[in-house]
Amino acid sequence: MIEAKNIIKRYGNLEVLKGVDVTIGDGMIVSIVGPSGAGKTTLLQIIGTLDKPDSGTVTYDGVDVLRLKDKRLAQFRNKNIGFVFQFHQLLPEFTMLENVAIPALIGGCKQSQAFKRAAELLDYMGLSDRLEHKPAELSGGERQRVAVARALVNKPAVILADEPSGSLDTANKQELHKLFFTLRDEMKQTFVIVTHDESLAGNSDRILHMRDGMIVEPDSVI
Ligand code: ADP
Ligand code: ADP
Repeated sequence: MIEAKNIIKRYGNLEVLKGVDVTIGDGMIVSIVGPSGAGKTTLLQIIGTLDKPDSGTVTYDGVDVLRLKDKRLAQFRNKNIGFVFQFHQLLPEFTMLENVAIPALIGGCKQSQAFKRAAELLDYMGLSDRLEHKPAELSGGERQRVAVARALVNKPAVILADEPSGSLDTANKQELHKLFFTLRDEMKQTFVIVTHDESLAGNSDRILHMRDGMIVEPDSVI
């Protein structure tokens, strides 16, 4: 279970998160929706321990992750959280197989095991004929599936995704969403997804509506 309590984040004078409380149960698909500038990406980055709030706490199964020292935090993140972020791109000079294996290698996994697991995941994603290709040689939909495979390689309990289907056409979007629900069902993974996609949000277990740095009821007027 992930708990973020009373999260306040400022950039200069701008209070971007104004005391956000959120609890996310295991094995849930939670969508974060709301207008641009509402603070969705900032909240996701704080939940993902990539950014620190000015005040508030973030715990994973009771572990206060904001108190972990940098090295421990990096280890915790690599082991427990998979990221599918737009700015978190594939490394262009590495093959797909290498891109997917890298988080496992960073986590101390043996090379043979890391590549075996990466190949299995790419096969699962229907990309077994793309192992030796580099990112530039793949379509947007294929690259996005590789990014998901990379996020999964360490079998993290939690996957955080920021507009994962933003650059995809309808068919690829539906494929990606189906994949998330399959993974949730098969691996009991928790997904927290920032999205503008109404079909994805509508099918998720829970929708968090954000506006102006707060989580609000969907029909509240500000
Ligand atoms: P959303 O994801 O809902 O579009 P963001 O979390 O990206 O919202 O941004 C919320 C607000 O915080 C916006 O006004 C944005 O410009 C501002 N912001 C986000 N990151 C930074 C930053 N690193 N420095 C300054 N302002 C930022
Ligand atoms: P998204 O499209 O997911 O809302 P953004 O384009 O808002 O993402 O933000 C992408 C990155 O830029 C994030 O790391 C965010 O923190 C940073 N960022 C967003 N707004 C600003 C800003 N006004 N100043 C500096 N960095 C920002």
